Amino acid sequence: LDPSEDHLSSQDIEIEKQLRPLSFDDFTGQDQALENLQVFVQAANLRGEALDHTLFHGPPGLGKTTLAHILANELEVGIKVTSGPVLDKPGDLAGLLTNLEERDVLFIDEIHRLSPIVEEYLYSAMEDYKIDIMIESGPNARTVQIHLAPFTLVGATTRSGLLTAPMRARFGIASRLQYYSTELLTTIVQRSATILQVPISMEAAIEIAGRSRGTPRIANALLRRVRDFAQIKGNGNIDISIAKFSLKALNVDAFGLDEMDNKILTTIIEKFKGGPVGISTIATAVSESPETIEEVYEPFLIQQGFIMRTPRGREVTEAAYKHLGKIKGPIQGG
Ligand code: ADP
Repeated sequence: LDPSEDHLSSQDIEIEKQLRPLSFDDFTGQDQALENLQVFVQAANLRGEALDHTLFHGPPGLGKTTLAHILANELEVGIKVTSGPVLDKPGDLAGLLTNLEERDVLFIDEIHRLSPIVEEYLYSAMEDYKIDIMIESGPNARTVQIHLAPFTLVGATTRSGLLTAPMRARFGIASRLQYYSTELLTTIVQRSATILQVPISMEAAIEIAGRSRGTPRIANALLRRVRDFAQIKGNGNIDISIAKFSLKALNVDAFGLDEMDNKILTTIIEKFKGGPVGISTIATAVSESPETIEEVYEPFLIQQGFIMRTPRGREVTEAAYKHLGKIKGPIQGG
């Protein structure tokens, strides 16, 4: 299962919305980030000011969009949602900005993908709540300055390394989201099951949680697929046997590793004798960009103890050999 949103059907997106926690109290995990945000929101509310611009970074599916909506709810303001690739003309940005009411949230997903010219506009909007827009063209062209209502920009990125330094500097609050433990994901699976009105045993919830790659989006997606199996092949209840049966049928890895995770580990073992090997060499071998490997795949593999960073490059661990059923040695098939 892909943790990014790219492969979601419109029905999936609908269900995702339904499963989205709406308040701080409803949100599970990310305790440190959440505690700080609660303080900042309370302080902003007390002073009647806009919350400082806030950046969420971390791998896909960990709750960045969810938190942006929660911030708006907790600030009791409106939210406008857009994304870096969509916002390609300064005019589009100006339209959004001038429609914001005081203290509103503007959420920009994939903020590292803004075009430089749009980014430039955003700077003055963020800093002084002003934008200069060009009206007319030719000899009559002139710029007019428009004052904006104080607002909060909430940016989300999976690739903080690609964010420009001036952009990063304009966020007063930055928060890195972490992968979730199986325990937290179990709570999330149980909560989602309640919303979807499907009975689930504790054991089954733990099973699904443990195979979700530390990611709530994957946990919810697996839950929905297992629910299908429970309804068609079982009695509608999710118990441990139907959970195990479905996860096997879905080809879900015991640790929730996805295809690219497995490809990375297999490549290091088979082509580079287990490492050490440099990140760009790995990237070329698996046809992915080094940045994506570093920011999206590697953190989870390191956290799970499958890869180590050494001064000479990346090395796979015993655990990875064991997990993939490979034997450690100089000669490997493939
Ligand atoms: P991101 O923006 O980081 O890619 P989202 O905020 O869209 O991730 O979250 C993906 C899905 O996971 C949503 O359906 C959301 O409801 C769920 N989710 C994320 N974080 C949590 C959480 N802490 N508790 C419960 N559900 C969560």
